[in-house]
Amino acid sequence: MTAGRADVHEDPARDTDELYGRLRAYEGRPAATAGTGKDLVNAPMIRHWCEAMGDTNPAYSGPDAIAPPTMLQAWTMGGLSGHTDRSGPYDELFALLDGAGYTAVVATDCEQEYLGPLRLGDRITFDAVIEAVSARKTTKLGTGYFVTTRMDVRAQGETAGTHRFRILKYRPAKAKGNAKGPARAARPDPVVNRDNAGFWEGVAAGRLLIQRCGACADLRFPWLPGCNTCGSPEWDTVEASGEGTVFSYVVMHHPPFPAFSESGEGGPYAVALIELAEGVRMVSNVVGVPYDEVRVGMPVRLEFLRTGPEAQLPVFRSAAVGEG
Ligand SMILES: [Zn+2]
Repeated sequence: MTAGRADVHEDPARDTDELYGRLRAYEGRPAATAGTGKDLVNAPMIRHWCEAMGDTNPAYSGPDAIAPPTMLQAWTMGGLSGHTDRSGPYDELFALLDGAGYTAVVATDCEQEYLGPLRLGDRITFDAVIEAVSARKTTKLGTGYFVTTRMDVRAQGETAGTHRFRILKYRPAKAKGNAKGPARAARPDPVVNRDNAGFWEGVAAGRLLIQRCGACADLRFPWLPGCNTCGSPEWDTVEASGEGTVFSYVVMHHPPFPAFSESGEGGPYAVALIELAEGVRMVSNVVGVPYDEVRVGMPVRLEFLRTGPEAQLPVFRSAAVGEG
């Protein structure tokens, strides 16, 4: 995890930053004390991790298995039922930052050091300390403070590794609305990766492309590296006609998300599963019809919604009303 560390700048006002002095007083104070792992180091958790990571190293299976070192933090996690060992100082530090307007938080990076292997049956305990609070920094996300927490993880009381975790607690930068287009909130850009890059290139060119298996000719959506039917990695594309129907939908009320509501003011909006004429389904928005008039079976037609100077997204307009 990284957050553009190269773009971090020292704030010239740091010497007069009174808050920094108060935050720094928390360095060295506990973030969690006498934590205990909810489970002993065990084979099922190791197996699930290895399957998720695709790690087939034989050291991680069998009666003498060790745990993958990168699982270090996994043994300390509280799960849905949480932990009760978080200390007062960590909460106080966060309250101080929240109160000063640094209300947003983003995880920036983590570093682990492995001092000894964890083996099946090991009993995990841990303590965490607020190791460092940075001077005020300005990043692309906004201005704030980096807080580094160091967790020491032990097995039967012996330190097995350390886990350093850094967050940025920041005041979000104000959106620049006047110079570069409308002031309404922008939709997040799609996440483009090597598996779906062809899809987004199609969208940029105003074409909705469906993958077609090169071996069995099955159509598939969303884009995947292989065919769900026969496993073949060979594929080409067909362009969707743009005709479809609403297969299912939900109406989002909370949390309000102005970028997604048609008014731009954060009201409810419909998210629909569209069945394309070609038979595949995709999640999108229905536009041109009030959110409470979207219905299952409603015919819709593809159009492209401009979301930025160079960005557009496929959405579906109700064919019944609001044409054009
Ligand atoms: Zn196939």
